[in-house]
Amino acid sequence: MINKINIKNLDLADISNYLIEKGYPKYRGEQLFQWIYKDIDDFSQVKNMPKDMIDMIANDFYIDRAVIEKKQKSEYDETAKYLLKFNDGNAVEAVLMHYEHGRSICISTQVGCRMNCSFCASTLGGLVRNLTCGEMLEEIMAIERDIKAKISNIVLMGSGEPFDNYDEVIKFIRIINDPKGMNIGTRHITISTCGVVPRIYDFIKEKLQCTLAISLHSAENQRRSEIMPVNKKYDILQVIAACKQYTGETKRRVTFEYALIKDINDAKEDACELGNLLKGMLCHVNLIPVNSVEGKAYSKSERNTINDFKEVLEGYGIETTIRRELGSDIDAACGQLRQKYIEQINDHN
Ligand code: SAH
Repeated sequence: MINKINIKNLDLADISNYLIEKGYPKYRGEQLFQWIYKDIDDFSQVKNMPKDMIDMIANDFYIDRAVIEKKQKSEYDETAKYLLKFNDGNAVEAVLMHYEHGRSICISTQVGCRMNCSFCASTLGGLVRNLTCGEMLEEIMAIERDIKAKISNIVLMGSGEPFDNYDEVIKFIRIINDPKGMNIGTRHITISTCGVVPRIYDFIKEKLQCTLAISLHSAENQRRSEIMPVNKKYDILQVIAACKQYTGETKRRVTFEYALIKDINDAKEDACELGNLLKGMLCHVNLIPVNSVEGKAYSKSERNTINDFKEVLEGYGIETTIRRELGSDIDAACGQLRQKYIEQINDHN
């Protein structure tokens, strides 16, 4: 496979350009692209193309597949957490969730993460590497193969910071959105960032109709810097200014994620501060009872505290939801499955 390129890293324009350069007509690019998303695992399965052309493609490209290393299924609902291994041995998590409006997958964008949020397990071993768009595609395709059904919604909220792997993530979104490929509407895609401000401005220019989610977790700079080091580089007002530009230009509302951590950011004053910060904005707040992470002393806020927090925000006219805890029995915080896997490997060595 040396020197061959994973064909899933190419979008339709890349494939068409390659074939045009080799002297084939443009429509061949569309045909090949469609075959990839019929999930072939070998170019010999391509039916409507000349043999010499298929041989040439097989000589230059390979079709990458991820391996399901582990699958953890909830006993309460249909949520399943997958550990997917790529061909260099690195593994990431993806979570399948079932909602009334369809199936959704939460996918990872990096192996590990370098953002260092104090409550997050993905960051424990630092950043290992970026995922390519083809690997992100495989997170969807491997799960679709497993469940023999199609996915309708994608959230980029697994391990990694999507805006720290910007180009591959945008390419990935454009590929899954392509009507000739998976045809997942941008309105069915949510991208979540810890607040890498320059990339928020870049994202506005992409003119994609995805939902933008911002991990806020505190409305006060000192507290936010303590739990999210990215805040030392891009503070809250810079994040909010970028979000206002986003809502102004796209007319789409922003989702603010707020993980409620007992005695850290769940007091009434925290809710008032958040209310003051966000009031009047085109936005929605999603409260997440924090997942405990091994080795970290954080615990979930009490149910009453969460409800009170919601009420305060609603008093400021801010639409607020509490995230449903799907698969609560397998609800190890994002990144923990991979962490355990690494520990297992280390134990064996
Ligand atoms: N890096 C991106 C996307 C990945 S995290 C981001 O920061 O938005 C997806 C969401 O899960 C973020 O809102 C993140 O802050 C949150 N999260 C991380 N660890 C968590 C935990 N232990 N409990 C609850 N939510 C957590």
